[in-house]
Amino acid sequence: MSAHQERTPPGHQAAIPGRGLRLGRLFGIEIRLDSSLLIIFTLIVYILGSSVFPQWHPDWQAGTTWLTAVIAGVLFFSSILAHEMAHALVSRKFGIGVQRITLFLFGGLAEMEEEPGEPRAEFLIALAGPATSMFLGLFFMLVGSMLAGADSAALLADDRETALAGLSPMATLLLWLGPVNLVLAIFNMVPGFPLDGGRVFRAVMWWITGDLRRATWMASEAGRLFGWFLMIFGILQALSGALLGGLWLLMIGWFLSNAASASYKQLVMRDLLKGIVARDLMRSHFETLTPQTRIADFIDNHLLQSPQQLWPVVENEQLIGLVTLQEVQGTPTQDRATMTVGQVMRTDLGALSLAPNADANKALLAVSTHSTPLAIVEGNRVIGLLSQADTVKWLLLHQKQ
Ligand SMILES: [Zn+2]
Repeated sequence: MSAHQERTPPGHQAAIPGRGLRLGRLFGIEIRLDSSLLIIFTLIVYILGSSVFPQWHPDWQAGTTWLTAVIAGVLFFSSILAHEMAHALVSRKFGIGVQRITLFLFGGLAEMEEEPGEPRAEFLIALAGPATSMFLGLFFMLVGSMLAGADSAALLADDRETALAGLSPMATLLLWLGPVNLVLAIFNMVPGFPLDGGRVFRAVMWWITGDLRRATWMASEAGRLFGWFLMIFGILQALSGALLGGLWLLMIGWFLSNAASASYKQLVMRDLLKGIVARDLMRSHFETLTPQTRIADFIDNHLLQSPQQLWPVVENEQLIGLVTLQEVQGTPTQDRATMTVGQVMRTDLGALSLAPNADANKALLAVSTHSTPLAIVEGNRVIGLLSQADTVKWLLLHQKQ
């Protein structure tokens, strides 16, 4: 499957880590391969090389079979990349940036910086992916049939086996890849959020009702339903003997129903935080250090005694540095009595601080990206700290029923 969604703020576990191998940039968008991709890539190549292609081409040498299988695997993920790229480029047309595309276990993910602001944008961004897959599918099948020539007519007739055996490796690739892209287009058009079809559905309901939250609720319920349907179908399949295929459907179904719930919660949270700024969420009771504080003193009297995770280092009321566990854990134990916090503190203050009027949604994103609290800085003075735990507390207290 493939989905496009914005980055998940904390409190709702991101289903997909933003890590993995960086492949390069395309149209200014970073392309990443998640390590989970290796599992599905290996599986596809294995199934193609050990069963599909040998059945089509009993006469092929093992080398030809496996090479074709590997190329097919690469082209499969290139097709998914094209699908995601289409989302990204249309999204950019509507002024919503996409920093990176990650290919992972279940397909691809184009990370949009924000949600589309109007139904029309959502509709077209969502449609761009499946439309691209549909186009690629038809295109590959057309070229594949042309390469197959007379054999392509026979493929549809009775003598399928002989016709398949006569296909060149290139025609074989294209005639496998074509239908796969069509399936990709159709699967993604299922009207369950956060699948593309669910986004199209949401855009239409949004346009009709004018209520994004209600539209999202409807689309994500449909997504959960579809997820459950896939899981039940997968279990039945597994029980009836198709273990691998059944388990795969079970996993996709589970992932989908989770993603549907998370997407809705995320929107509710975004709604809740509308108009809220970092100052509203931050804690204003916190300890500070001076650059002369000895590291031993810091460890014994602050780090180990308090749930605080980030300490501002302050001189004449001005912020000059920041210290976390990370900065002191590498210091030699015997030197801690003499070394000072000023010697190890971080001074890249910009990266770890925010203005008090920073948008709460952006602040949450920053906190989750850095996985450390941030300092809220006004002028050169620290007026608060913002952590995930604090924001979760705030959210729990402000939940709308
Ligand atoms: Zn898509």
